[in-house]
Amino acid sequence: MAADKEILRRLELRVKELEEENNSLSDQVEEMLLLNLINESFDEITDEGMLLTAVLEKISVLKDIPYCACFEFSETSYNCLAQYCSFYTKVPCLSVVSISGDLLKELNTQSIIRTNLKEKPGLLTFDSKSATFFPGEMLAITFQTRALNHGVFIFVCDGKPSGPLKNDLLPFYQIIRIVTDKWDRISLMKELKQLNKELEKRVEERTNLLKQSEEKYRQLFDMANDAIFLWEIDANGKVLGCKEMNDAVLKMTGYNKDDLQSLNLFSLLADTYTQKERKVFEKDFARQSGILKASFNTRIGIIPLELHFRRIKLNNKQMVLAIARDVSERQAYEKQIIEAKNKAVESEKLKSAFLANMSHEIRTPMNAIIGFSELLYQDETMPGEVKLYADIIFKNSLHLLNLINDIVDYSKIEAEQVTIWNEAINVNELISELSINMISILHQLSKSHIDVLTHTPLIDSEAVIINDKTRLRQVFTNLINNAIKFTQQGFIEIGYQYNQDYLEFYVRDSGIGIATENQKKVFERFVQVRDPETSSAGGTGLGLAICSNLVERMNGQLCLESSIGEGSTFWFKLPYNKTNES
Ligand code: ADP
Repeated sequence: MAADKEILRRLELRVKELEEENNSLSDQVEEMLLLNLINESFDEITDEGMLLTAVLEKISVLKDIPYCACFEFSETSYNCLAQYCSFYTKVPCLSVVSISGDLLKELNTQSIIRTNLKEKPGLLTFDSKSATFFPGEMLAITFQTRALNHGVFIFVCDGKPSGPLKNDLLPFYQIIRIVTDKWDRISLMKELKQLNKELEKRVEERTNLLKQSEEKYRQLFDMANDAIFLWEIDANGKVLGCKEMNDAVLKMTGYNKDDLQSLNLFSLLADTYTQKERKVFEKDFARQSGILKASFNTRIGIIPLELHFRRIKLNNKQMVLAIARDVSERQAYEKQIIEAKNKAVESEKLKSAFLANMSHEIRTPMNAIIGFSELLYQDETMPGEVKLYADIIFKNSLHLLNLINDIVDYSKIEAEQVTIWNEAINVNELISELSINMISILHQLSKSHIDVLTHTPLIDSEAVIINDKTRLRQVFTNLINNAIKFTQQGFIEIGYQYNQDYLEFYVRDSGIGIATENQKKVFERFVQVRDPETSSAGGTGLGLAICSNLVERMNGQLCLESSIGEGSTFWFKLPYNKTNES
């Protein structure tokens, strides 16, 4: 009997063991099922909120957990992302549970909290509508996703003694990992979609811009007056055919599109080109870019062209973009202009030569008039009236002669009939000679009170330059005459400054000076600065123009420094070489 009891007891124990094994097995099977379900389903879900709600519902149903929720939280606040309550349906977020400050603090320091809410009733508070629900075991597991730094899943069982939360936590972790993975994937997909959208928008914008600019260039291309070609070339640079052309090409050449597409550019060169010239053209055209002049055979005849070309890459093909302009009109025009210019130069020369010759012819009788009027004036036997007339004739003849001399000189310069003779000039001697002349003229003009100064820093043996003595004297004389004309008192100084390679000659006076705005003009021919004080000074307005031209021909340049009321300095540099000794 006792033995039977013992057997019965053992059998009962075994049955219990088997029952427990069976229970645990069915638990494991259930968890695996849940994991598989979560892993494989929800793939079509594209929203984090929907994913969470669906997962929470599945956990709640399969694991018999009445309250499952997911929050995002910080140290001081929380926000319900999704929740599922089997005791309420369609419960809006936050209306069921509130998280206490203590729990928030714990969530910020621990990644897993497992506690019995019966023992800590204030930790998580359910609202009054859930009065039928008695919270028991709570499991809170925090997590992170790409988009969310602090999140927590909270599972709460009811007050029944042994809930699923007592078992192994691994399945919860696995569920959370799978969910957060999916979550990450969804947020990535969302970001990708957004990026894709932006990209598509940008592509569309760019395409529109491209279309617009293509349209613009197409119009420019079609409307251009110049012929625009696009020639395709092979890897060796051989021109294959014309791939694109605008209307101007057809108009200019008289060819149609088909003709041109099969034509080689070089075969368009005019028949007049020799074999050698063709080779040169082909070689030039093989450059990266350039401008070529060429005559092309067209249906309309041979036309001269200016061809601008550049190599470009289009759709991975080597092309040459060429713009051709018909320059026949321009060439004819240029020819006309050159002919007209040559004619003008020729007639200018003829005119100047004529003037030079005429003036020369006039000078001979003028000299006779001057000579005889002077004789008459000096003849003591002549009555006073005759002497007066003779003096007037003499002075005016001199003035006329000066005028004629200036015109002759200027005409010679214009007609390029001035030759510069190089010879050794002792400039010290020249300046001394000029100063003596100046003193005599000043005396004649009752201007002896004006001081005559000279500056000749080189010793006589070194004061030698090679140049045209007559012309140098002419320039000096002219400048000195001007200085005398425009100076009433003070001084007139002539001389030079010495420098290694040149001598800087000058004529300085303390006369009326020339205003800045007139300083350039006075070198032009026939220019005289009108001044009431000097309007009677005479002259032709040619003197400085002649001087400036002569100095240029002597390899120098005539310059001026002056200010009104303070005087003027005319100066020019001429080459000097110290070895030039007389
Ligand atoms: P012109 O035969 O009239 O003197 P120039 O060509 O020699 O012609 O001079 C042109 C003008 O330049 C003169 O009319 C005068 O107004 C001005 N000019 C030339 N030299 C001097 C000078 N030393 N001082 C002031 N004015 C001058």
